[in-house]
Amino acid sequence: MNSTSTTENQRLATPVEAGPIETDAVIVGAGPVGLFQVFELGLLEIKAHVVDSLSAVGGQCIELYPDKPIYDIPAVPVCTGKELTESLLKQIEPFGAEFHLGQEVSVVQRQPDGRFYVETIKGTRFLTKVVIIAAGVGSFQPRTLKVPGIEQFLGAQLFYRVKDPTQFHGKNLVIAGGGDSALDWALDFVGKAESVVLVHRRDGFRAAPASVARMKELCEKMQMQFLVGQISGFEDSGGQMSDVRVTSLDGLTRRVPLDALLVFFGLSPKLGPIAEWGLDLERKQIVVDTEKFETNEPGIFAVGDINLYPGKKKLILSGFHEAALAAFGATRYIFPERKVHLQYTTTSPKLHKILGVESPVFD
Ligand SMILES: Cc1cc2nc3c(=O)[nH]c(=O)nc-3n(C[C@H](O)[C@H](O)[C@H](O)COP(=O)(O)OP(=O)(O)OC[C@H]3O[C@@H](n4cnc5c(N)ncnc54)[C@H](O)[C@@H]3O)c2cc1C
Repeated sequence: MNSTSTTENQRLATPVEAGPIETDAVIVGAGPVGLFQVFELGLLEIKAHVVDSLSAVGGQCIELYPDKPIYDIPAVPVCTGKELTESLLKQIEPFGAEFHLGQEVSVVQRQPDGRFYVETIKGTRFLTKVVIIAAGVGSFQPRTLKVPGIEQFLGAQLFYRVKDPTQFHGKNLVIAGGGDSALDWALDFVGKAESVVLVHRRDGFRAAPASVARMKELCEKMQMQFLVGQISGFEDSGGQMSDVRVTSLDGLTRRVPLDALLVFFGLSPKLGPIAEWGLDLERKQIVVDTEKFETNEPGIFAVGDINLYPGKKKLILSGFHEAALAAFGATRYIFPERKVHLQYTTTSPKLHKILGVESPVFD
């Protein structure tokens, strides 16, 4: 359960009942590149809304390696995925970007006036002059349990995410998985749920060693149970899942009664709706030019891991460079009458004003 919170200035937007939100730019994806895109647009006085299907910002850095060290961010000898995300959030604070998290962008359509209509699965709608796709390897979707017929209980007794933990209090829970999410939730529910049984296919875990040690301690105290095995079936008792069948490595199957089954098998990326937006794709990536990182659709840009061009390297620093040039590329749609010059953040009083910092006096 990793979370990196947005600050007060980076407001989490509330659902809008009225018309679409009118804006200059919508950034699809709040990974490191999407976050830095806010900065580069901000320097050029372009306000952005950022949408991500996950409930926290940071993309792969937060979902896949929050505590691992990164050594190749220019001028930062070492930082973790979480630290990088936190630094980026701090850096973009002056621009007050609005974040719409936990919602996948499902629709991008050009309007007769040249702008784009963008809609998320939660019904948030935008009218924007440019779209910048920083969607990495696509939206992360939970890996599902492959047991025929079990999906009928999705949302009732089978869950891949915990939105409201209190709904599981007082219940008999089976939690499947061996990573941080599975262990964190199992530990969290001990003492709150009626019973907690953790099921993992082997006796080795990807989760933090401290969580594993705590889990073993709680098992010894009989406050929870750990079973090595795979969920291989379930019992349907009048439309209710009454038990799951857990098959151990030696082929022995036992029945475990339950009220709810929580599955945390990690997340796998899916390009999803992006494939339907009429963009030139190659090997599930969006083809762009290397001058502006614009797609075949004028006004739609793609930066970071999602794009493809000759020599592309899926590195954070490449994405940062692409974000800078995409921001300049976007200006022709947002300020068509304006000639935009490159300015240095060190010396430009205009940029100091935008950044909310004092202009230094140079001799
Ligand atoms: C284990 C590991 C270690 C790594 N180490 C390094 C390293 O040391 N140095 C380095 O430079 N790189 C490293 N990388 C690669 C680096 O993490 C990626 O290059 C980087 O995360 C790309 O950033 P991004 O913003 O383009 O995409 P992502 O980080 O993938 O973020 C994209 C975001 O877009 C969201 N999204 C996708 N589709 C939609 C949609 N339709 N609607 C809404 N949101 C959507 C996703 O939910 C996600 O949050 C590593 C990767 C891994 C897996």
